[in-house]
Amino acid sequence: MNKKQNAEKCPCGSGKTYHSCCEPYINGTEIAPNPEALMRSRFTAYTQLNEAYVLASWHTSTRPDDLNLREQPVIKWTRLKIIDSSDNMVEFVAVHKVNGKAHKLHERSQFIQEQGRWFYVDGDVERINIRQQTQQKDSTKCSEKLGS
Ligand SMILES: [Zn+2]
Repeated sequence: MNKKQNAEKCPCGSGKTYHSCCEPYINGTEIAPNPEALMRSRFTAYTQLNEAYVLASWHTSTRPDDLNLREQPVIKWTRLKIIDSSDNMVEFVAVHKVNGKAHKLHERSQFIQEQGRWFYVDGDVERINIRQQTQQKDSTKCSEKLGS
């Protein structure tokens, strides 16, 4: 990240600059203090195709071996909206594009804290293809994200 990018708004949509939002968590200089902060930093890492950070913040019990974020078709994450968050859960809508088509990912993610660090465990997912306007419920885990 260069200085110009540091002054830009954080990809997670917090309204803060990247430097004062997700960067310290992604760089490892600070620990995300709660599930929402971790969730935001993970979203930002997805926008950066930062597979190492996404995996490092994933609990070992559910962590995939790899995510292949750079494999085609690359998913372009564009927008995050936090709907609700509690002490171990974050509900959000994340907009992303696959092959130019916009999709919404609506997920309730579970988080766990171990030795002071928060980790993503798993989530219940509802995928919505914006263009087709069909709301297909997907009760299975987000297999695309889990890389399985
Ligand atoms: Zn952020």
